[in-house]
Amino acid sequence: MHTNKSFDKINLDWKLIQSELKLKLGIEVYESWIKKVALHEEFNNYILLTVPTRFIRDWITSRYLDQILQTIRKHKKQIVRIEFKILEKKDTESEKFDDLNQIKESGKVSFIKDSHLQYSRIDPNKRFDNFLVGSSNKIAFEASLKVSENVSYYNPLYIYGGVGLGKTHLLNSIGYEMSKNKKVMFISAERFMYQFVKSIKSNEMVKFKEHFRNTDVLLIDDIQFMNGKEAMQEEFFHTFNALLDKESQIIVSADRPPNNLSRIQERIKSRFSGGLVIDIQKPEYELRRKIINHRINELITLHAYEVNITDEIQDFISNEINSNVRELVGAINRIISFSRIYNKIPSLSETKIILKDLLNLTENNVKIDTIQTIVCKFFKISKNEMLSSRRSRYLVRPRQTAIYLTKILTTKSLPEIGREFSNRDHTTIIHSVKTIERLKEKNPDMNDNINKLKNIILYNKEG
Ligand code: ADP
Ligand code: MG
Repeated sequence: MHTNKSFDKINLDWKLIQSELKLKLGIEVYESWIKKVALHEEFNNYILLTVPTRFIRDWITSRYLDQILQTIRKHKKQIVRIEFKILEKKDTESEKFDDLNQIKESGKVSFIKDSHLQYSRIDPNKRFDNFLVGSSNKIAFEASLKVSENVSYYNPLYIYGGVGLGKTHLLNSIGYEMSKNKKVMFISAERFMYQFVKSIKSNEMVKFKEHFRNTDVLLIDDIQFMNGKEAMQEEFFHTFNALLDKESQIIVSADRPPNNLSRIQERIKSRFSGGLVIDIQKPEYELRRKIINHRINELITLHAYEVNITDEIQDFISNEINSNVRELVGAINRIISFSRIYNKIPSLSETKIILKDLLNLTENNVKIDTIQTIVCKFFKISKNEMLSSRRSRYLVRPRQTAIYLTKILTTKSLPEIGREFSNRDHTTIIHSVKTIERLKEKNPDMNDNINKLKNIILYNKEG
């Protein structure tokens, strides 16, 4: 998994992802936002998207990022985050002026003059004051706080832990605090590599070196991705030493302890081990409840909207999603979108469906074959008929129903579903899903049938 494939060619089908998002989020959301997003570049574990304006980026980030990521991950599992590049057209002088002012305001945070790198900028929404603390992350939190108050208290500080446990949030908080009066550089290891290779190609190595050695605080996120590439490690090592010599603070995050880093020079590992090494554990039950509660309150203030998620559901989520804070937050976001869209509080079984792909419930391990069998039985047709190309009305509806159920109850992508239904094109799949969605709205019997089928499929329950 940790190979140097940072420069892979694009292989995600962005049009397809957009059309899946259209289904998921509705035509309005698609037309207003998603349509305007384009795929710029794919990296090892993240992708860079372009948007026309800052506003669109912020809007999408605050509302749809989770769903976009989920959809992308159905096609490419290793993608864990999304970054945005803004393609603002600066056609008026005043806009140029605004931009200048922004650069001045953030003057304490340094960037290489490269549009790419700007996206490793510090996120003002991830701060110490909104990082919730429990026994699993207390030590990492306190060490980070100390470092941010007191340069060279621990140097380097090395924080490690699994995905979605708050490492980036902590690094960002340190950067946010320290950039108030120091020069801060916050970059992911992948970005560092990218920048490194780029400056070699453009003969700008001197600038690159100066840039990194000129900072008071260097934060490097996800150092495990900085593997191989001897020349780069060499450069990193020198930068690292130069910074420590002049007592700059270095903070590093990784998904594993220094000794387990693969293909990273021993001497770099041992310098990491020489500082303070701290891990973040999976969140304990109390912390999970706290995070859920906090997120709900946040949304209430944000949208001035009453959110009423029952204790039963909060408890269910805290119990089921227990190893990843990102997923926990994502789960709440989904429940809340659901309750806003349908204007009701989801029941427990609806919650299970909404969060299906995040849960490890065995009953949710739905096979396409099971869906087809159950739907055929329900409508009293044979499987051959369902999978045939015949378009008689008595076959079309059951077929569309099965396709619809596959779409909502499994994590299969549209082309995968198409293949399972006798190699139908993904546009046919989209059409079927839409048809059933429309019929469900208009026709209570249809809605009833769908719910019955869902119950049989998911819980083996009739009625
Ligand atoms: P990592 O870098 O370890 O994969 P992140 O820092 O990106 O994880 O965290 C994932 C998401 O969960 C982010 O939205 C982050 O703000 C949130 N998060 C993680 N831990 C906490 C916490 N203790 N309190 C509040 N939010 C958290
Ligand atoms: Mg991270």
